[in-house]
Amino acid sequence: MTDPILLTPGPLTTSADTKSAMLSDWGSWDGAFNELTASVCRDLVAIVNAQRDHVCVPLQGSGTFAVEAALGTLVPKGGKVLVPDNGSYCKRIVRILGYLGREAVILPHSEQDPADPARIDAALMADPAITHVAQVHCETGTGILNPLPEIAAIVAKHGRGLIVDAMSSYGAIPIDARTLRFDALIAASGKCLEGVPGMGFVIARRTALERSGGNSCSLAMDLVDQWQYMQKTGQWRFTPPTHVAAALRAAIDQFQAQGGQPARLARYTENCAALVSGMRALGFQTFLPDALQAPIIVTFHSPPDPKYDFMEFYALVRERGFILYPGKLTAVDTFRVGCIGAIGADTLRQAVAAIADALREMGV
Ligand SMILES: *Cc1c(COP(=O)(O)O)cnc(C)c1O
Repeated sequence: MTDPILLTPGPLTTSADTKSAMLSDWGSWDGAFNELTASVCRDLVAIVNAQRDHVCVPLQGSGTFAVEAALGTLVPKGGKVLVPDNGSYCKRIVRILGYLGREAVILPHSEQDPADPARIDAALMADPAITHVAQVHCETGTGILNPLPEIAAIVAKHGRGLIVDAMSSYGAIPIDARTLRFDALIAASGKCLEGVPGMGFVIARRTALERSGGNSCSLAMDLVDQWQYMQKTGQWRFTPPTHVAAALRAAIDQFQAQGGQPARLARYTENCAALVSGMRALGFQTFLPDALQAPIIVTFHSPPDPKYDFMEFYALVRERGFILYPGKLTAVDTFRVGCIGAIGADTLRQAVAAIADALREMGV
């Protein structure tokens, strides 16, 4: 039995080389593993051209752990964070800020609209007490791409700190720290780098990190402590996700051999185009217009047919070897299909064929 293809934006389908990299055991104390960690961190900084002013702080856990650690470490106790909200991952940031006891100012948007730089500009102008903006780059809840370069320019103009959740864009959508100013950029092993899930990382501005000691109310989530310990010892504080880090090393090697970010974007763009055109031919409608759609994950409206049921649809597509993702919208009935992972356009075409077959069986 072969594994099903994961059309979910993490965990995702990984290559045989990435899986094989997990067949060794590593000592957390050992020089070889410390070197592996250091090389991964160097590459993660270089992927966004951030060598000059930023450092990489890896953290055990899923992506959300790294988002929470970045907010809890970089936003001081009296800080105030503007959150342009156009989807579920923006709302998760607001929840995290609530747990951390950091004040949030929500800038509500429709889930069909990208975050509006002019409204962010006005909000920062109106409230000088706002210290940071927390911006989701690709809002994976819908698949919309937010205009990060424009937003970063406005935040920089106002002299506030920018914290970017680039979880589902890092490695695929261009981000260049030489022209785009941020204090922290957060991503994880198991998204567009096509590693396995289990570690997040924060590309943090060194000066911002240096003045953030004492901000965190959690030891495990304190990025300053993690960074300082790693600088001193070359080791992670606490048990590292050794197999995940080794798989990420292998995944980054493949990423580079395949042509880096431009090649990854090109493949995902082909995947997305194959998916969307195939689904439209079946009569499906995308939630977003093409101009706002990131080639990462696509939200489709559910068929308006009383015979359609997502759980049954999911099971029938699963039998045919593909794992779909439920929708994340409250107002409309949708489901999502990821375009990322070690897959090509042919795989997406096969997925569309499986979906057509499943609908036929359901009589939809
Ligand atoms: C995947 C993702 C996260 C992290 O989710 P986890 O389930 O904790 O890995 C955060 N933000 C965005 C935009 C994501 O796509």
